[in-house]
Amino acid sequence: NTFAEIDLGEMLNQNIRRCKYVKPTPVQRHAIPIALGGRDLMACAQTGSGKTAAFCFPIISGIMREQYVQRPRVARTVYPLALILSPTRELSCQIHDEAKKFSYQTGVKVVVAYGGAPINQQLRELERGVDILVATPGRLVDLLERARVSLQMIRHLALDEADRMLDMGFEPQIRKIVQQMDMPDRGVRQTMLFSATFPREIQRLASDFLSNYIFLAV
Ligand code: AMP
Repeated sequence: NTFAEIDLGEMLNQNIRRCKYVKPTPVQRHAIPIALGGRDLMACAQTGSGKTAAFCFPIISGIMREQYVQRPRVARTVYPLALILSPTRELSCQIHDEAKKFSYQTGVKVVVAYGGAPINQQLRELERGVDILVATPGRLVDLLERARVSLQMIRHLALDEADRMLDMGFEPQIRKIVQQMDMPDRGVRQTMLFSATFPREIQRLASDFLSNYIFLAV
């Protein structure tokens, strides 16, 4: 019942110790091994359950191996390998802060993009390179329409607080975003959906976006 028993690698374990996490929370204990095994996952998780680490650790672990893959070179377009969608600026910034701590000294680059703030600073951050993009749906659609971000290389997708994103009316944007990942090499993408509640709309998202997934209720 320690992080060391989960196969996250020494680098990530060091960062976890640095964050003073000793014992995995229930959602972490169950979700991380499933996700490390490459499976899709729908998990019931409230705020405070430790869900951020539950999806960040497997993503970072995967990206540490994948970050050297050849990416297309198109002027001004960046090709992140992982995408974390979240409903609000506050939550996106929180996830970004945590993901940066978890990926300290791994070479994995995390960038955040959210609406309601000038886009130029975010564009400059993106231009320096991005492996994991944390974004709100509206701002990401904007970046896709400007062809500043391509989702063609996405290997890991996490939808955080999916029920809240739907409550806020983001379903069309989310569908548009996920459509852009369904192009050449579908099948390599791992998708994790986190939600506090499971109304019919969330179940529909899960059956549309996840394949052969495990449902986790802790
Ligand atoms: P979250 O549910 O991801 O928003 O996490 C809630 C809070 O718990 C955050 O401040 C985390 O940094 C902290 N946290 C998450 N996992 C652990 C853990 N295994 N041990 C100690 N603190 C944790």
